[in-house]
Amino acid sequence: MVDYIVVGAGFAGAVLAERIAERDDNKVLVIERRDHIGGNCFDFMDENGIIRHKYGPHLFHTNSRRVVDYLSAFTRWHKYEHEVLASVDGKNIPIPFNINTLYEVYPTDKAKRLEDKLIGLYGKGSKIPILELKKTDDEELRALSHYIYEKIFVNYTAKQWGMRPEDIDPAVTARVPVSLSRDDRYFTDSFQAVPQDGYTRLFESMFDHPNIEVELNRSASDVLDITENGIKYLGRPFHGRVIFTGMIDELFEDQFGRLPYRSLRLDFETVSKELFQEKAVVNYPNDHDYTRITEFKHIHPAETKKTTLLKEYPQAYIRGKNTPYYPIFTDENQQRYEKYKEFVANIPNLILAGRLAEYRYYDMDDIILRALELSDEILHGM
Ligand code: UDP
Repeated sequence: MVDYIVVGAGFAGAVLAERIAERDDNKVLVIERRDHIGGNCFDFMDENGIIRHKYGPHLFHTNSRRVVDYLSAFTRWHKYEHEVLASVDGKNIPIPFNINTLYEVYPTDKAKRLEDKLIGLYGKGSKIPILELKKTDDEELRALSHYIYEKIFVNYTAKQWGMRPEDIDPAVTARVPVSLSRDDRYFTDSFQAVPQDGYTRLFESMFDHPNIEVELNRSASDVLDITENGIKYLGRPFHGRVIFTGMIDELFEDQFGRLPYRSLRLDFETVSKELFQEKAVVNYPNDHDYTRITEFKHIHPAETKKTTLLKEYPQAYIRGKNTPYYPIFTDENQQRYEKYKEFVANIPNLILAGRLAEYRYYDMDDIILRALELSDEILHGM
């Protein structure tokens, strides 16, 4: 007897499965089509003892006490505050572009003048999305914004999205705002760390519950039949609830059209060097076909004379061929998603959660908080 079926073993599925299994003694079946848990947070220790993030770098950061308290029941933490450099004109400069960066790229007197103007206009410590900064009336600041736009954003965004910064959701470039501070950290959240033994161990601990069963290598379409008329599990009507965290268009056979994603080709390499670069991530906005190089040893230190690198090559998402990483947020795609959402509203025992099912560019902490809140609603009608 199963009360809940959770499709997908990433953060959305894991948090909901754990909460539901724990709080009301519900029996939960988790089905996952990959051969591992953890979704895109999956990591493993490679042959050199380095923890690798199989689907690209995942740096946990949050301002939510609730999320930290919740996860801390399943993992200890390794403090890690992420810093990123961008390779621009042969020099590695801190990003988000901040006051330190300003002094690295301009002579001191000019940097000082720009700093004073910026702080006078926007206030010390403020964060300004590049597309906002470009609207400034001041001629010198406009030249600065043009420099940042050209050297950091336009080519990186062309590689990452195949589009201009103006043509993607402004919230995407606003993730990396110009910062009027001397803080080189990529995130300013109050809590920044990675699970001490990696994300996979954290997921194992979340799923390690007598009421949870996890079936790997199992697609939703193998066992579930979900239509407006209700849900069937293994051919029989299922009266429990299904929490679906996969691709919603695929679940409903693309009946309102496909929801596009951006994908990545991830090339790992091992180099016989103590360390390859100065920080965990160096972005290459203007050179190479890859967007960035991640060096995992900076995230999880390891005792080895070798080091593991990852180069990310953005590419189109093709179903069945590669992995959907980023929803492509345009009005048209959003409207298409809304049609699926309206359709799902007529299936009372189907719940959607996660980056794929909600077609949203969630960070890890956002989806964990969302899943915790959803579990409150599900269990207590809150
Ligand atoms: N971005 C950019 N240049 C950079 C870093 C980021 O143009 O050096 C833009 C780009 O459009 C990217 C977005 O800002 O998709 C968000 O960057 P973030 O690092 O948050 O992306 P993620 O780590 O989620 O891939």
